[in-house]
Amino acid sequence: MINYMMPDYEVVRDKELCIKCKVCVRQCANNVHVYDEKRDVLYADSSKCVNCHRCVTLCPARALKIVKTDHCFKPSANYTEDIIKDIYRQADTGGVLLSSMGTPKSYPVYWDKMLVNASQVTNPSIDPLREPMEIKTFLGKKPESIRYREDGSIETEKYPDLELKVPIMFSAMSYGSISGNAHIALARAAEALGTFYNTGEGGLREDLYRYGANTIVQVASGRFGVHPAYLNAGAAIEIKIGQGAKPGIGGHLPGSKIGPEVSRTRMIPVGTDAISPAPHHDIYSIEDLRQLVIGLKEATDYKKPVIVKIAAVHNVAAIASGIARSGADIIAIDGFRGGTGAAPTRIRDNVGIPIELALAAVDTRLREEGIRSAVGLVVGGSVRSSADVVKAIALGADAVYIATPALLAMGCHLCRSCHSGRCNWGIATQDPELVKRLNPDVAAARLVNLVSAWSHEIKEMMGGMGINSIEALRGNRLMLRGVGLTQKELDILGIKHAGE
Ligand code: SF4
Ligand code: SF4
Repeated sequence: MINYMMPDYEVVRDKELCIKCKVCVRQCANNVHVYDEKRDVLYADSSKCVNCHRCVTLCPARALKIVKTDHCFKPSANYTEDIIKDIYRQADTGGVLLSSMGTPKSYPVYWDKMLVNASQVTNPSIDPLREPMEIKTFLGKKPESIRYREDGSIETEKYPDLELKVPIMFSAMSYGSISGNAHIALARAAEALGTFYNTGEGGLREDLYRYGANTIVQVASGRFGVHPAYLNAGAAIEIKIGQGAKPGIGGHLPGSKIGPEVSRTRMIPVGTDAISPAPHHDIYSIEDLRQLVIGLKEATDYKKPVIVKIAAVHNVAAIASGIARSGADIIAIDGFRGGTGAAPTRIRDNVGIPIELALAAVDTRLREEGIRSAVGLVVGGSVRSSADVVKAIALGADAVYIATPALLAMGCHLCRSCHSGRCNWGIATQDPELVKRLNPDVAAARLVNLVSAWSHEIKEMMGGMGINSIEALRGNRLMLRGVGLTQKELDILGIKHAGE
């Protein structure tokens, strides 16, 4: 049978530099590098290369580089190389194309079309090195007013909420889609930073219960690993309705990733595919959602805030308005450029809307309806830097979720092949030999470094604006100006154009 596929990358080995140590042979889980003992020659099967950089990074002689192949098809703006290769792939397999991580397509990134204000002369800036800057925030329902007793004490009861020392949390990534060592690293970093990580839909390993005060436990349509102890182990419960990278469909973790430990945690047999249905089969309306919210609150003695996570889709503002009335404490919105462990490529690249527009639309609608204080608002799905965090908060978010930057901090090289289960960096894999490659202590320290660095930058930007509290930045869209945006886009974002 003819193989129509051409390799995407080429492995280039500098034979002058190579010392034949065979590190690349041992390190590549995709068996790209081969040593022919008889001929004493190293060669590479480039067709297997996913460009994960493991060999390039660990080669002691710096003898390797991976380049995009210059083999080309006749140029066409219509039938691009990617489209042709996808058609070949589907003609080979007859299957749905699968991908990992966020879409590589060039949809607009609105974060990069918004600029942040700075104080000059009349409203002095604040030096964050010399003056206190508060980036702590509370996530949850806020009372409309505060009632005092005669003795001056506060009578109003506080709703259960989450206290975040930094307005950044680690987004849901399940044990199964990522390794146990990656989960441990996220849990340790969340604890050290005074923030939260999220179990995703895969349950919670017993050895991680001790990080419960910094854990958000998720309840998804498959209900994997959900039981009373699990619900009570975390600081908050998240109902996952949708995910930005694959709105409207369920999840699928292949049986090859369900080893004994994942099986025990998810409460499903070893080696079986973990398929979460597209809808929750008990939710067809806001009233149904309310029943689940109340049910989870009952199960946890009304002590834990309940988050409802949805994907950013066309009518997200109306949906969020309903969720705010469902009794949920926090809404999490996941944008269309967000990452994932595995998603059908066509869904990932074509379904949903950018998080910036979704966030602005939701915050505006909740304010117009007078219910913004009824819920906390978290956004994720392509929050890539501290500047994106500042812009998200100015657009109306209370806090953000990050996942891809967290994976990058742990060593991910964005090769977008998590769905293969052969992650050379020990992150998106359950292969014990590969999992060992990720040292959870080192990964946790790198996560702490990343979020600490972003926190410093957030404080600097706030200081520049003359704002000393993150809560004063929330929804303060006057601090943003658009560049290169249409009037319609500016209207949805609720910001003025630069120069106005
Ligand atoms: S890791 Fe580098 S030096 Fe070692 S065999 Fe491979 S290319 Fe040669
Ligand atoms: S987690 Fe691993 S497999 Fe997934 S994109 Fe990163 S390096 Fe590649």
